[in-house]
Formats: sequence, C-alpha cells, structure tokens
Amino acid sequence: MTLELNRLDGTLAKAVESARALSVDDMAFLLSLSEPEDLARLYAAAREVKLKCCGKGVSVRGLVEAGNICAKDCFYCGIRKSNGATARYSLSADEIVSAAKAAKSLGYASLVVQSGEIESEAHTQFIEEVLRRIAPLDLGVTLSLGEQTEPVYRRWREAGAERYLLRIETSNPKLYAALHPVECSWERRVECLRALRRTGYQVGTGVMCALPGQTAEDLAHDIWFYGEMDVDMIGMGPYIPHPDTPLAATAPALSKAERLQLGLKMIAVTRLYLHDVNIAAATALQALADDGREQGVMAGANVIMPNVTETRYRRSYQLYEGKPCLDEQASLCRHCLEYRLKTIGEELLFGRRGDSPHFHRRTHT
Ligand code: SAH
Repeated sequence: MTLELNRLDGTLAKAVESARALSVDDMAFLLSLSEPEDLARLYAAAREVKLKCCGKGVSVRGLVEAGNICAKDCFYCGIRKSNGATARYSLSADEIVSAAKAAKSLGYASLVVQSGEIESEAHTQFIEEVLRRIAPLDLGVTLSLGEQTEPVYRRWREAGAERYLLRIETSNPKLYAALHPVECSWERRVECLRALRRTGYQVGTGVMCALPGQTAEDLAHDIWFYGEMDVDMIGMGPYIPHPDTPLAATAPALSKAERLQLGLKMIAVTRLYLHDVNIAAATALQALADDGREQGVMAGANVIMPNVTETRYRRSYQLYEGKPCLDEQASLCRHCLEYRLKTIGEELLFGRRGDSPHFHRRTHT
C-alpha cells in the first residue's frame, strides 16, 4: 500500500467516525484527489455519513425565482445590475402565491423564494405580504434575498419565513474583493449571517468553487468557515462563466467535467466534516452534466430544489450559461427527478419539510 493510500484510508476513517475530525490540511488533501478510484472512495464515505446522519431519501424544495432586478454588480453573475442584455422582471404577489400552491400540489412541503437583491421598504413590505399569503399552505419557507438589515430579517421571520440562504461566496476576503465591486463588503455578509442567526432562522450559506484564483486551501478554509459559523444548511456549486459578465473573460478554461468534479468534492468533504447539515445538490451541477444533481446526492447531498417558476420567466433568471430545464413545466420536473433518483436507489421525501437535523440538534440539546 502506498503512503498516499494510507493517508486516504486514515483520513476517511476518522471523518466517518466523527464530525469536525478533519483539519484544514486534511480537507485540502481530499479536495486535491483526482484518481477515479480515490474519488469513488471519497464519495462513498460521504454518502455513508449522509445515510447515517440524514437518513435515506432526498428533501425537496420548490424554487421560485421571484425576480431578477438587482442592486449589486457582482462580476460573475448574469443578473448583475450592469448586464443590459437581460430583460428584467419581477413576479407579482399572485404569481408567487400560485407558484407556492403549485409546489404544494406537487407534494413539495417546502419552498425557496430567491431573487436579485433589493433593499427598500416597499420590497420589504411586498415580501411580508407574500409570506403572510403563503402561510396557510403550511410550507417550510426559505428566503434567499441577499443582504438586508436585521430588522428586515426579523420582519420576514415574523411573517413566516423559517430559513434563509445567504452565500458567503468565498471565505477568503481577498478573493471576495477580486470578484465584487468595492462597495460590496465581505464583512457585511458575515454580519448578515450573524444577524440571521440571532433572528432565529435556520441559516444557510455556501460558496462557489472553480473560481479564478481559488486554491484547494481556499476551499478547505470555506468548509472550515461553515463549521465556525455553525450553519444549518449549505448551498454551494461550481462557478460557471456567463458570457455577459466581466469575470467570464478572465475565467480559467476549465472543462465542465472539471467544474463538476470540484463541486462534487466540495459536497463530499463538507458532508464528511459537518455530518448533520442539509446540503443541496445545486442546479449548477445539472448545468454541467445531465445527471449532475444525482451525482451530488451520491457524493453526500440530501436536498434538491426543482424549479417551480413559470417557464416564461426562467430564461431571464440566468445566473450562468447553460441553465437546465428552461422549458420544462414544474410537474414534468417532478416526474423526471423522481425517475432519476430511483435509478440511484434514492427517493424524494414528499410531504416532509426536511428541516436541518443540525438545527434541531443545536436548538433542542
Ligand atoms: N441575490 C441573492 C441570491 C441570488 S444569486 C443573494 O445575494 O444571496 C444566488 C447565487 O447564485 C449566488 O449566491 C451565487 O453564488 C450564484 N451564482 C451567481 N452567478 C453564478 C455563476 N456565474 N455561476 C455559478 N453560480 C453563480
């Protein structure tokens, strides 16, 4: 047995045994694996932990892309303020409520409402109204509406939202600064995560991987950061260049397979480090391979978020190139997903909210 193989065996064994057993160094080592046999063992170990800590099955959330109007100008994002090539839209309250009803009738017990970032009293009130109108549907509601003040987070929490997803994008402030205009503050994003926690949400964060200038050490540190912030949910995925953005010109020419592999390794190592958090197999994985989300589940993810936005809007909410399911009705997505998961021996957990086991542990012990 080679020394490297010994190291892999030992590292995986201690990670499966207990949460937070890996050092940042161990994580960087696992993230650097590239041999197919090594990767297969990494994913199998992560899946074992997923089964042990989250059980069999995959939680499902209907995703509503509520609007693409955004005040931010992030260098990588297709709906950035300066992208004049994107037609802007925002769903009416009626449209969001009917998407929520559609999700409910498909058997999805939870909903994610995501949009570009808007900070205004009118927008705050609009979201409050939407939340109050969907409350009778008894869905677990996640918001992903960017940076807001603590009083705004509190108002939305009181109006019925229980979970909030705000990606830190990268835990490296220098890399963050290279991907955003100066007015975007990494520190404010961290402060927002703390405010969400204080307000009583199940808190989610995440990063993009395969970013220009990012190292395996950066990614290992990202996972360590999730642990430091003690988050309940992780939504992360590979960066995919969007042609109408400044970052696309400088992005390294990685293949789809390379981006996908990094996304899967991030899921696996995060599962091995944190054990009981919810980890989503992001749609970006599906943009890189037809069965990308199923591969995500096989690497340790336990949440999938099929799109329930009316198809006519989907084309306008393109964060990256190659977004899948642009023309598929929500019901079709459900059947397709159900079938796909069966092929890997998994099933969608209909009618269950799928709260983060970590959230329960930290609030009930
Ligand atoms: N405005 C909200 C959420 C909308 S964007 C917020 O700030 O939280 C949702 C996520 O899409 C971002 O957090 C980012 O991580 C991801 N994203 C944006 N552009 C991307 C790209 N080109 N490739 C992959 N992911 C991207």
